Amino acid sequence: MNKIKRIYDILYKNYGPQGWWPLTERYKFIPEHKGKKPSTRQRKFEIIIGAILTQNTAWKNVEKALVELNKRKLLDVNKLKSLPAKKLGEIIRSSGYYNQKAKKIKAMIKFLESKKPVTRENLLSIWGVGPETADSILLYAYEQPFFVIDAYTKRIFTRIGLAHKKNLYNELQEMFHKNLRKDVKVFKEYHALLVEHAKRYCRTKPLCKKCILKKFCAKK
Ligand code: SF4
Repeated sequence: MNKIKRIYDILYKNYGPQGWWPLTERYKFIPEHKGKKPSTRQRKFEIIIGAILTQNTAWKNVEKALVELNKRKLLDVNKLKSLPAKKLGEIIRSSGYYNQKAKKIKAMIKFLESKKPVTRENLLSIWGVGPETADSILLYAYEQPFFVIDAYTKRIFTRIGLAHKKNLYNELQEMFHKNLRKDVKVFKEYHALLVEHAKRYCRTKPLCKKCILKKFCAKK
């Protein structure tokens, strides 16, 4: 078995299924969501908004912005479409770079309204959408097998010795695509498990002594 797959198995065995993407319905602190499931369209839209909001910020800040949007019943294409960008920026303030992100959300809504197919190429042509955002949307909202590379993935695999700091996004993604079966479920879990691993052990200052991946790691 290859190392990429073995690392996945170890992470999964130790941390269990992460069940991403985290949706507001699962935020325990929103009691009105208990037992209710939003429609697929709503879920997709929330994931798309979350993927933009999470750019350059921690998820806890995104969660606050999503909660604010949800409180105002704004997690809806039509409602956000008619909301002025400045007002939207104020509501999503907690996610940082809020004015820019409000404009990005507006650009995304324009794209969704255009009814163009949601392909990687088309997503990348939207202002403010880079590869990580595009792949997060494709994988988590549209269930297409695109592996998401983020700073944590790069950090962990560089330290382990399977990647290099200079590797480009596409090169790292290719490594996962070549070494894993194109399985949406695995791609979703693997990305989430890497985020979990970076929080638990492979932090800025890594906790290598107790790390569950240390036998694979060049840095330990
Ligand atoms: S051994 Fe250390 S550097 Fe390697 S993956 Fe674990 S925490 Fe990260």
